[in-house]
Amino acid sequence: MDKLTIRDLDATGKRVFVRVDFNVPLEDGKITDDSRIQAALPTIKALIAQGAVVILASHLGRPDGKVQDSMRLRPVAERLSQLLKMPVPVTGDALGVGTEDAIKRLKPGEVILLENLRFHVEEEKNDPAFARALANYADVFVNDAFGTAHRAHASTEGIARLLPAYAGLLMEREIEVLGKLVSNPERPFAAIIGGAKVSGKIKVLRNLIDKVDVLVIGGGMANTFLLAQGKQVGKSLAEPDLIEDAKAIMESAAKHGTTVVLPTDVVVAKEVTRGSEYKTLPADKVPASWNIVDVGPATLEAMRKALEPARTVLWNGPLGVFEIPTFAVGTKEIARFLAGRAQSGATVVVGGGDSVAAVEQQGLADKMTHISTGGGASLEFLEGKELPGVAALLDRPKGSAAEARSN
Ligand code: ADP
Ligand code: MG
Repeated sequence: MDKLTIRDLDATGKRVFVRVDFNVPLEDGKITDDSRIQAALPTIKALIAQGAVVILASHLGRPDGKVQDSMRLRPVAERLSQLLKMPVPVTGDALGVGTEDAIKRLKPGEVILLENLRFHVEEEKNDPAFARALANYADVFVNDAFGTAHRAHASTEGIARLLPAYAGLLMEREIEVLGKLVSNPERPFAAIIGGAKVSGKIKVLRNLIDKVDVLVIGGGMANTFLLAQGKQVGKSLAEPDLIEDAKAIMESAAKHGTTVVLPTDVVVAKEVTRGSEYKTLPADKVPASWNIVDVGPATLEAMRKALEPARTVLWNGPLGVFEIPTFAVGTKEIARFLAGRAQSGATVVVGGGDSVAAVEQQGLADKMTHISTGGGASLEFLEGKELPGVAALLDRPKGSAAEARSN
């Protein structure tokens, strides 16, 4: 890890500003999934144990710079209090004299949560004065919000330029796991890329094509590759203007000796709706008025066979319209298969909001090696981009003892 983390920090008695990702789903003011709060606990607990004053900050939803009562962090603070078994007050506003006073009164080992940062339009604008106001609360900055690391906001990037900035433990794990995938994966290395569109993932495909030994393509994005093979996809979701890009990916794969697995049979439906008529057909026999909605059994078998020897697997993007149970077969089968591979010792990493949701729906999340908490952030990382929230953290001094230890 070439960034300093809280393992390199003695936070005893220090005021630590911790950017977390508490952007949890809420329904009628109730949290429907607290995994993001759970994911931040190791960092928060480590800082409490050291006797730091812990100032937590997050965004929630898209309030667009205005106070919106439905996006207040109170339910998050309540859940966090339960999990930490200690009171976690939430301020009325991220800024203001009341908040400053509340922070000044905190004792070592105590925790406070600032109100939704995005109630201030300055947060997403990375406004220097706003970043300065946040920095003034603390001696040290810790970023544990991997899911927001691809955004240069005041609480992720601006503040990191003003205080000594360290990675939290969740951030550390994300960078290490995803970093190893793109730099030094145990081979064979396979990527399964699915989801809706090629356009959303073309940069990931380009970055990974010379790194993977096996590339499995499924979901709506496979349809554009089928077009590139000269097949017809009927009414299916596809991007004809990206056929040339799909061809370039295939050519690059051939040049690098990468095995590519594309659908050879598909599930087609009259309409992409629940209860619609559907059937399985060869991928070159899709009728003009039908939609490809899932991969077929022969394709799944070929995918499993190609993935079986892999020591490392990255999965990003469902293989079909998994929101409709009848069309979720391919996605479910692959999730089950990958859970089994992970249990047999392969490294299996799942990234992407919908792929993660599919794995969680089946209760398989615990079986995988790593479930990335960042949808957009993990995609940009896999594109090979440097994330601004990561770039702003302190670099590990070259040749230091700590570096030797971590390698
Ligand atoms: P992730 O969030 O895991 O990165 P994406 O957001 O790229 O994945 O894609 C997920 C979406 O892709 C899902 O809503 C799913 O219904 C859709 N999808 C998958 N296969 C198809 C298909 N054959 N036709 C239309 N949509 C599809
Ligand atoms: Mg998605």
